[in-house]
Amino acid sequence: MLGLWLMRSILLATSNPHKLEEVSAILAPLGIEAMGLDSLEATYPEPIEDADTFAGNARLKAIGYATATGRRCLADDSGLEVDAIGGAPGVHSARYSGTGDTRAERDAANNAKLLEAMAAVPDDHRAARFVCCMCLADPDGSIVAETQGAFEGVIGHTLRGGHGFGYDPLLILPEGVTSAELPPDEKNRRSHRAQATHALAAILQESTAPH
Ligand code: IMP
Repeated sequence: MLGLWLMRSILLATSNPHKLEEVSAILAPLGIEAMGLDSLEATYPEPIEDADTFAGNARLKAIGYATATGRRCLADDSGLEVDAIGGAPGVHSARYSGTGDTRAERDAANNAKLLEAMAAVPDDHRAARFVCCMCLADPDGSIVAETQGAFEGVIGHTLRGGHGFGYDPLLILPEGVTSAELPPDEKNRRSHRAQATHALAAILQESTAPH
């Protein structure tokens, strides 16, 4: 284990403690400490994520916070892509239905809309995946690394499982359980976010390894 004096810190562009924990667990063994937006003394306006790709939004957020805070910043953008409906809900995943004040209400309305859109789609055309794109940017606005991960499955006909959030109860994994039926630890180990973070860790490890 590296001594604290060797720890480098990066800002993770999130206030979500679960994301912070997941990413920290992967980066800490490399001597990289991830700190969330909540640990900054000042608050910064959230950059507007209006790109039409996950990678574009992750870039906007990473560069926005890195230049505003003067810190190396890691940002992610994620969502669900369903092949039979042209990749929707895609970058609009969080607000696909356009309704709901709370996260739980939005999730329920999003899932209902997706089930309706997929009602007539046969079982062999229901492929879908959660995608996560990550971008690490420096305070001068330059991009240090970009990675992505995907968590593949098919869209079910009913909601199943009580863990997770968002579209987890509708994504059936190759082993037959939904993402919401996976124990949270296992989902966190295998998820699109974990894959993107591991890919980033590999790039950082490579770039700091003695040649
Ligand atoms: P964000 O990148 O955390 O803002 O996620 C955008 C949206 O994508 C979420 O609000 C969910 O609707 C969906 N999403 C992203 N990751 C997951 C996941 O792991 N499970 C279920 N839904 C997800």
